[in-house]
Amino acid sequence: MRVLVADSINEKGIAELEKVAEVVVDTDITPEELLEIIKDFDAIIVRSRTKVTREVIEAAPRLKIIARAGVGVDNIDVKAATEKGIMVINAPESTSVTVAEHTMGLMLALARKIHLADKSVKEGRWDKSKFMGIELNNKTLGVIGMGRIGSQVVTRAKSFGMNVLVHDPYISREAADKMGVEIVELETLLKRSDIISIHVPLTQETRHLISDHELDMMKDTAFIINCARGGIVDEKALYNALSEGRIGGAALDVFEEEPPKDSPLLRLDNVVLTPHIGASTVEAQRDAAIIVANEIRKVFEGGTPQNVLNMPVLEPETFKLLKPYIVLAEKLGSVVVQATPGKIESLEVTYCGELAEIPQQDILTRTILQSILNPILTEPVNLVNAPMIAEKRGMIVTEGRRSESGDYKSLIVLNVKSDKGEFSVEGTHIREPKIVKINDYNVDIKPEGIMLIAKYKDLPGTIGAIGTKLGEHNINIAIMQVGRKEIGGEAVMVLKVDQEVPATVLDEIKELENVDDIVAIELSH
Ligand code: NAD
Repeated sequence: MRVLVADSINEKGIAELEKVAEVVVDTDITPEELLEIIKDFDAIIVRSRTKVTREVIEAAPRLKIIARAGVGVDNIDVKAATEKGIMVINAPESTSVTVAEHTMGLMLALARKIHLADKSVKEGRWDKSKFMGIELNNKTLGVIGMGRIGSQVVTRAKSFGMNVLVHDPYISREAADKMGVEIVELETLLKRSDIISIHVPLTQETRHLISDHELDMMKDTAFIINCARGGIVDEKALYNALSEGRIGGAALDVFEEEPPKDSPLLRLDNVVLTPHIGASTVEAQRDAAIIVANEIRKVFEGGTPQNVLNMPVLEPETFKLLKPYIVLAEKLGSVVVQATPGKIESLEVTYCGELAEIPQQDILTRTILQSILNPILTEPVNLVNAPMIAEKRGMIVTEGRRSESGDYKSLIVLNVKSDKGEFSVEGTHIREPKIVKINDYNVDIKPEGIMLIAKYKDLPGTIGAIGTKLGEHNINIAIMQVGRKEIGGEAVMVLKVDQEVPATVLDEIKELENVDDIVAIELSH
């Protein structure tokens, strides 16, 4: 086996690989040279310099693995690799401790004004009285997002004698108990914390998670730290709160624009800024190299790696049979995560009819989990690691098979329980994916675009009132379906609309008489 190391990685990784393969290190390789020699390699390791494009992949008939000694894979054409059956692997765990330590560093810098004291001594002053700090001991730390990095921060903060509050709607009570932290709503965390540290991914839900309203809820002495991603904190709102003394200080390693040109934050004393170096340590880079080297070794020795970002290979015959249901499974997972209130505690998947007889349907369960977990986690959840991540997060997943499938040849039934309620959905594939039941009510809807699911009491005027409210806000209804079990009882309405529905409009609909709930779901076409 031959491995090309195209970007410089720690020598421990190279030594590991040399035990099982011939390793060629060429860290100055140009794109043209790479295109020429890649045909002779079974694996390639890159960091961020070398681009593994579709062209490179197509010129590599022997290639089995593309490894990123680090986390982000923006420089690798993962889709092209998947199409050729090449595994793309990375080392997502390698930076967690490093980023957590940087967070602690920023916390201490803010608490003891280290940045200002350093500057003042270097400028020839000895202003001891100006730098009165605070202890971290007995202070309350609010951690937003307790994933890989957030939980490392929790452990370190506890050893500093801090009380820790966590806001993470997707973490289980068990995981919180294990870490010995109190799980609270965001509002409580903002109000009670002396220091707040953010460790969530940047998603639609977390963009500007911290803006005027949230900053106003914080103590006027509180510090906020963002070592996650720029854009989670609204920098304009942050500047206003800091300059008006509505909060005590801030530390940022990440920015809305990097580098932060002309930002007024650069001129404030109560701010500590670092140039996105949260993950930059010798150890993180060493660990990334060792992790990917071990993964490559595992594959060469016939084992299964942990950090594969793309599809495992299915038997071609099985793939043909399962293919339509893979799309359906992806859509059903996406419906479930958006329609279920609170954090999902259990997922029950039942394969019915002909589908129950097809081998390897666990790939569908993995696809469903991938759809459920991907919107809330930083690193792509893949078909290999999805069950493991679900388990780690305390989600109980059960899989069943049933020969009976009602009016359909095959059916996937999902039943979900969360800490705030339950949701069920059934889907099939008849030329295209279809949802045929929601919460036990029959519907017939193609899962794509923007859908609204409303629960209401089947009383005269309710359907009209919902339609009118959407009309008032210029939201066009493309399709409407209602399902009910008895006249005047509980009913469910599924609407397809042409425009995005703002949260304020959903709130207005929830206020309508006889409407119990409404959620908006966005699905890809
Ligand atoms: P992770 O996926 O392991 O954890 C993210 C956590 O956030 C999960 O527990 C998830 O449940 C939670 N979450 C998702 N949406 C939430 C919401 N709306 N409110 C509260 N919690 C929510 O991610 P990680 O590896 O710990 O990374 C955390 C952040 O750190 C990411 O933004 C990542 O990009 C960033 N990061 C920064 C650097 C750096 O150099 N500064 C380096 C690595 C990672």
